[in-house]
Amino acid sequence: MTTISANLQAVRTRIEAAARAAGRDPATICLIAVTKTWPAAAVSDAAACGQRAFGENYAQEGVQKVRELAGLGLEWHFIGPLQSNKTQLIAAHFDWVHGVDRAKIAARLSAQRAPAQAPLQVCIQVNLGGESSKSGVAPQAVAELARVIENLPGLRLRGLMCIPEATENTVLLARRFGELAALRDALNAAGFALDTLSMGMSQDFELAIAHGATMVRVGSAIFGTRAGGPPDGPASEKESS
Ligand SMILES: *Cc1c(COP(=O)(O)O)cnc(C)c1O
Repeated sequence: MTTISANLQAVRTRIEAAARAAGRDPATICLIAVTKTWPAAAVSDAAACGQRAFGENYAQEGVQKVRELAGLGLEWHFIGPLQSNKTQLIAAHFDWVHGVDRAKIAARLSAQRAPAQAPLQVCIQVNLGGESSKSGVAPQAVAELARVIENLPGLRLRGLMCIPEATENTVLLARRFGELAALRDALNAAGFALDTLSMGMSQDFELAIAHGATMVRVGSAIFGTRAGGPPDGPASEKESS
């Protein structure tokens, strides 16, 4: 077994255990393998082990891999910060976008999605901790953005996504995951039909599953430690154009 295959198996086993511990069906949790900074060969190794959903943070790097591996029938998730000058590439090549946090970006993605393609599946990113350095809409502004997205023909609103504070404080992380789940419940009570909670990464996906995550985004636990930079730090906001 390669390292990727062994790591992938270990992560799947942990997802199943976390789901069972929470009284949930493991089949309701989708593992997104996050391949930012890793070459296309790492993606195809994971694909050979049955992995279908992949996450990328940088538009150009991601699109290169989408093109290179177009024959494999993979599902591509854009999970990075969104810049206006990248929406065209993302709308054309990805299946999901997790970081939608403003009406202007949503409108561009919708307009740039080809009518022949299935609508782009979208999550609204919520900035739960109010961190000024982070992408994401404030919790009290989510409903308004959700209504905008629901009226855009190129998009299909699926749920909410969060990247909590970088901390090992599991009490705080649990609170954030619970807050995102409660926000989803409140929106559904108000008439939306959101089925997706995108939350949890290598360090905390089990905790996220305990609080209802339906998509976990896992990179380093599968592919190893990336060279340079925090997962969603300033470097990822500074993609060159
Ligand atoms: C990099 C990244 C991940 C994966 O992080 P790991 O700690 O490597 O599992 C998940 N979500 C987002 C938004 C990321 O940028």
